[in-house]
Amino acid sequence: MTSVKTNDSGAVFASPAFDRHEEVIFCADAKSGLRAIIAIHDTSLGPALGGCRMWPYDSESEAITDVLRLSRAMSYKNALAQLSTGGGKSVIIGDSERDKSEALFHAFGRFVENLGGRYIVAEDVGTTVADMNQIRSQTRHVMGFSARHGSSGDPSPVTAYGVFCGLRAAVEFRLGRADLEGLRVAVQGIGHVGYQLCKYLHEAGAKLLVSDIHGAAVARAEAEFGARIVAGEDIYSQDVDVFAPCALGAELNSRTIPRLRAQIVAGAANNQLERAEDGAELAARNILYAPDYVINAGGVINLSYERESGYERDRAMAHTARIYEISLEIFGRAKREGRPTSDIADDMAREMLGAKS
Ligand code: NAD
Repeated sequence: MTSVKTNDSGAVFASPAFDRHEEVIFCADAKSGLRAIIAIHDTSLGPALGGCRMWPYDSESEAITDVLRLSRAMSYKNALAQLSTGGGKSVIIGDSERDKSEALFHAFGRFVENLGGRYIVAEDVGTTVADMNQIRSQTRHVMGFSARHGSSGDPSPVTAYGVFCGLRAAVEFRLGRADLEGLRVAVQGIGHVGYQLCKYLHEAGAKLLVSDIHGAAVARAEAEFGARIVAGEDIYSQDVDVFAPCALGAELNSRTIPRLRAQIVAGAANNQLERAEDGAELAARNILYAPDYVINAGGVINLSYERESGYERDRAMAHTARIYEISLEIFGRAKREGRPTSDIADDMAREMLGAKS
């Protein structure tokens, strides 16, 4: 096993995504074929917590950019979620369908162990509870492994609850109403989080419009929640109160924002804004944007309630409910300062990190 520290790689410091990251570790294991990068962005609030993404990056610099961006986002997300964890992330370069092996995750686990607890790994795109179980055989610094070992298991239901709390705050702030009865919500992506969000919204009396590239996902929402199915891109232009992006990232951009008729955007997807300027564009159109990493923090909050003694679900849900107040604070400050909510959230996160370091 070899590991190369940041100062051996010019591509990191020169990257536009580099933002005073504390440490970036390149991990290579010839035996298993592991090639991974761990980025620790900021540990002023505690050990860096963030998932491990497995993705077939086209180039090393693409993987570096991704891990630098994702780890910084985790610092912001964890700070605003009021967790005592810093921000970090890791990427394994490879195809999650083809390149996984026990040896690969064991090797990765040993690299995590070498960091002595400065980085705590969890699931992300391309990795699963089973992979975390394998990592766990090499290190204690892992979360989100199988529930039978005292872990919190699938975070999606708690993520959906947090999104629901953020969405309610946005409805109260923009529409001046506390109930959701008859509220029209367009949900894009009815996967793990989208489905659970639909459930909360349906129970609260909202009317749902749904789209997904998988027919079975929308058919289920139609059958269980009376949702109306909308084809593909038509979801952007529906006459609704709220647009909830719960599929992939970068859905809010110069092509889609002009089509929106909703007054509120509040959803689970990570990195919803294609460019930072898109946050300003939403504000200019008087669309209230609930910043993605603020309202989708339920998953990481959930992880933080894993304990040696077992997982504390009630406390995780109570903590997640605070997303409602944090969202209201961001909306209020954005209004007072006449600035986009996305900028205000970033400022607040930086203030919290700065206050500690
Ligand atoms: P998922 O893969 O279970 O669901 C995503 C769904 O979106 C799938 O059903 C997929 O078919 C659909 N989809 C993909 N492209 C689409 C398109 N163009 N139009 C409509 N539907 C499309 O993922 P998930 O766990 O539900 O996560 C959803 C989003 O929330 C992701 O961006 C994820 O990064 C983010 N997120 C998830 C969690 C969590 O706890 N799972 C936590 C934080 C953030």
